[in-house]
Amino acid sequence: MPGFDVQQFRQQFAFFQHHPDWVYLDNAATMHKPQAVVQAELEFYQISNSNVHRGAHQLSQQATALFEQARSSIASYLNAARVHEVIFTSGATAALNQIAFGLMHTLLQPGDRILLTQLEHHANIVPWQLHCQRHGVIIDVVPLTPDHSLDLQAYQDLLALGPKVVSFSHISNVLGHIQPVAQMVALAKAAGAVTVIDGAQGVVYQQPDMQQLDCDFYVFSGHKLYGPTGIGVLYGKTSALQLLTPLLGGGEMIEQVSFVNTTFNKLPFRLEAGTPNIAGAVGLAAAIHWLQKFNNKQLQQHKAELLREFYQGLSHIKAVDILSSPVHNAGIVALNVDTEHPADVAVLLNQQQVAVRAGQHCAMPLFSSLQLPGAVRFSFAAYNTLDDVNRSLLALEQAIEILTA
Ligand code: PMP
Repeated sequence: MPGFDVQQFRQQFAFFQHHPDWVYLDNAATMHKPQAVVQAELEFYQISNSNVHRGAHQLSQQATALFEQARSSIASYLNAARVHEVIFTSGATAALNQIAFGLMHTLLQPGDRILLTQLEHHANIVPWQLHCQRHGVIIDVVPLTPDHSLDLQAYQDLLALGPKVVSFSHISNVLGHIQPVAQMVALAKAAGAVTVIDGAQGVVYQQPDMQQLDCDFYVFSGHKLYGPTGIGVLYGKTSALQLLTPLLGGGEMIEQVSFVNTTFNKLPFRLEAGTPNIAGAVGLAAAIHWLQKFNNKQLQQHKAELLREFYQGLSHIKAVDILSSPVHNAGIVALNVDTEHPADVAVLLNQQQVAVRAGQHCAMPLFSSLQLPGAVRFSFAAYNTLDDVNRSLLALEQAIEILTA
């Protein structure tokens, strides 16, 4: 197999032609879109636009076919057992809200426990909390070890308390650490819990195999998989989806409606109220088809090489305190410069056209546990180059010189 050619890969992203001077290292926030995705959305609106599932006319039937083909492509990418196990949402946040709300009205009773981890994104904390407080459900939290990994012994001890639900991220959006999800799912299942994986950062690292992983739910956003914003996926095993009370009511998700009662449509429609993001679904399927033309192992090896070079460069820069471990890291490095505020570092990087994110990265409980005000996050994608690494290191050195002068 020929080697990975990063320049050829990068050329497929018009964004970089419009911004040749920028180093974009904010990929954990959102990724750029290859032309194949932009084109698929454009063509949908130019050629195929109609509403889905409701038109008596042929145009609507064609739009419906495209939308349902997108669902099938995603189901097959995830190796879901059934196509209806893919529910379209607006993103990972919407999917996690649906799961938390949906289980709170069926599975969970006052006094029950759910288990989260210290490094979750707010999207995997707040939806649970909104309902737990109201329904008397208790949240337990898996702590971190001193090297900022999940404490797996504590995880097992907390599983012994019998949580009904265990929900954790595949990859930390702050630290980049890859969690041992297969082991964590197996342990949670042995403890009898429903398992939820926040795959927002994980899906671009590894093509998730639902039947092999055997989790109950896996969620992600299209925009972190080279796809459009405003579209995401809630994957659930059929038995798990049947546990969910719909969060949103409206058109499409019903069978019969009267002022006395409503009966619901079958899966997946029961959990997809209203007009969906049709072009987004088509765009996400295009992202997946496009991505499948590449060898993911090569993409990840390229990212790992960038990461190695970045760590190597950082080892020569004084005053840098790195929070992320280089081991089991998917391509995200969170760091601080002495006691400088992360936002000040990011401003100076921005002035040198290096795009990073600074702050608490929607993970305040993680930073509270680390007793830090935040961090500067450099997140790499397969379209980044060694030149991006070198320029970001130089810019960081410059920023440090200014801040510590
Ligand atoms: N979970 C994780 C780990 C994330 O990184 C993000 C996005 N930063 C989300 C959830 C939420 O994704 P979205 O905002 O696309 O719904």
